[in-house]
Amino acid sequence: MTTHTGPLPATRPDGTPFVTARSDEEWRATLSPSEYHVLREAGTERAFTGEYTDTKTRGTYSCRACGAHLFTSDTKFDSHCGWPSFYSALAGDAVIELEDVSMGMRRVEVRCASCGSHLGHVFEGEGYGTPTDLRYCINSVSLRLEPGE
Ligand SMILES: [Zn+2]
Repeated sequence: MTTHTGPLPATRPDGTPFVTARSDEEWRATLSPSEYHVLREAGTERAFTGEYTDTKTRGTYSCRACGAHLFTSDTKFDSHCGWPSFYSALAGDAVIELEDVSMGMRRVEVRCASCGSHLGHVFEGEGYGTPTDLRYCINSVSLRLEPGE
């Protein structure tokens, strides 16, 4: 029995279709249960358990669901919050941001712009001293690091 936190949007906020659109059955077949839970059910991995929380390796972080490039190690910083944190997504429209009022809070959810999968949330004005004062707080299980420049 699966508890859905809500239907994922079928299209991008501007109404255009996602580049990678798969049925729920296809996502279940290609993702592990923990990947499916976070990416497709907007779950959250436990703090300090993700494989990329403290990773310093240089490279590009891609969407684990569809492979789209989302973040680079250049904008990853030590937030000590328990999840990989970036102060910027890749330029352009790599991610989409949606208002999320679940759990009694108003937050901004971050999703992959290519397939709509859930990545995490973005927080603003926390005073981390990064160039943007944004913290993209992203689940490790939503990402796959491709080492390189
Ligand atoms: Zn994706």
